[in-house]
Amino acid sequence: MSKPIIVGNWKMNGLTADSADRVKQLLAGLTTSPAPGVEVVVCPPFTQLALLAPSLKGTPIALGAQDCHKDDKGAHTGDISAAMLADVGATHVILGHSERRRDYNEVDETVREKVLAATKAGLTPIVCIGETEDQRQSGETEDTLGWQIKGSLPDGFTGVVAYEPVWAIGTGLAATAEDIRTTVAFIRAELERQFGDAGKSLRILYGGSVDANNAASILDIENVAGALVGGASLKPDAFLSIIHAVP
Ligand code: 13P
Repeated sequence: MSKPIIVGNWKMNGLTADSADRVKQLLAGLTTSPAPGVEVVVCPPFTQLALLAPSLKGTPIALGAQDCHKDDKGAHTGDISAAMLADVGATHVILGHSERRRDYNEVDETVREKVLAATKAGLTPIVCIGETEDQRQSGETEDTLGWQIKGSLPDGFTGVVAYEPVWAIGTGLAATAEDIRTTVAFIRAELERQFGDAGKSLRILYGGSVDANNAASILDIENVAGALVGGASLKPDAFLSIIHAVP
């Protein structure tokens, strides 16, 4: 079984000095209290990837990006290819985050094409799925997740799936342990249905208001192999507590 994985999604936050300082604090924390059984990834904004890569090389923290384009290169103003991310030392990439689905109309097919590009470039895709509050209220959670899994994950998918209920993101209101247990069990079943035996070992993360206080109980849930952390990943102490909460 692969290691549990804790991913910090810094979103569009921090200038270079903030990020360099955050990395320094995280590395100091992991030197004092190592977490050898945990894969740790931080995903800064694009402009900071090349800058942070040298200080993360050979450390317990891997570097990830927050998106990539589906093509290797070409006339796509403002976009970044997966090969460019790998070129500067990134090893992971978050894809299909609900904020991108919302702000850029990314649909499952877009996400699937990006997953293929990321895999081709040797990156580990972290693919986000999750229902909105409306979908939850109208009892469409499982349908939504089922379609997202089917549409976003290509044949032979080997990356990580992050379950992020949209209503739990940035609200301070994480899903309850019982809701997470039930929904993640459903996701596991869908992954097995789609990928057979390989679906048994794909890692599923939970994301949405994970913090230092609720991490231990969330990470203890069956089928939850880690967390995708937004706000709390900007605070080194909180992020270190989450890393150390892995059972
Ligand atoms: P928060 O942890 O701030 O709720 O964000 C979750 C998220 O969107 C991580 O990708």
